[in-house]
Amino acid sequence: MNVGLFGGTFDPVHRGHMALAQAAEEKYRLREIHFVPAHIPPHKQKQPLTPFTHRFAMLALATEGKKPWIPSLLEAPPEAGEDKDVCPSYSIDTIRKLKFGLKKTDQVFFLIGIDAFLDIAKWHQAEALFAECAFIVASRPGHSLADVANALPERLRPKSQATQPFQRYPAKGDLLLPGVKVHLLDGVHQAVSATAVRMAATAGKPLGKMTSPAIAEYIRKQNLYGK
Ligand code: ATP
Repeated sequence: MNVGLFGGTFDPVHRGHMALAQAAEEKYRLREIHFVPAHIPPHKQKQPLTPFTHRFAMLALATEGKKPWIPSLLEAPPEAGEDKDVCPSYSIDTIRKLKFGLKKTDQVFFLIGIDAFLDIAKWHQAEALFAECAFIVASRPGHSLADVANALPERLRPKSQATQPFQRYPAKGDLLLPGVKVHLLDGVHQAVSATAVRMAATAGKPLGKMTSPAIAEYIRKQNLYGK
């Protein structure tokens, strides 16, 4: 079985996330997609975040009625009284936790946008991530296959002479190298970010086109991004 893992801050979840998940589910026949909000995202530790409970609640709304989409507590904060250090949620640990409950023959695909993928070499135990799962990267015009290859952790990265011809090719298709499985997903073009949703909510603008009506309503009722 093919299983997707979609990690993020999801502050809030929006149409870009949903379009990526939908396209990945169809193209790679994903039987489950686990949406995993990070309690403490390692790359966004300096910015104030909406409490985990709200971000999770919005994911529960976004996944409602979509059978393979599962809101996940794999990176939930420790429960009150639980003797656990509060540390950043590293994807490598999350993937291993997810795989613990799967069969050996199941294949995990990590869903990610190209902007985030270009920083992957800086992630905790980046090389090990590639050994644990394949990647589905939502591509965008303006990026070449060479950008994707050059973003790989150093020991997995092909030599620059080898990737030079890739400059001519848009980031499309598959990048299959020893120890690396990257599938590029084109056609996901939703020019929306969580930052834009938060700004629109703060400005009191309608959120209709950026996220689903249920989430827009939740944001309004909870006054999540008010002034
Ligand atoms: P923010 O604006 O707060 O930085 P964000 O919109 O990038 O947030 P995240 O929760 O940080 O949302 O992103 C989770 C994942 O979704 C990342 O891999 C990111 O690249 C991807 N992603 C975000 N927006 C889009 C989009 N519009 N299309 C495709 N992928 C996206």
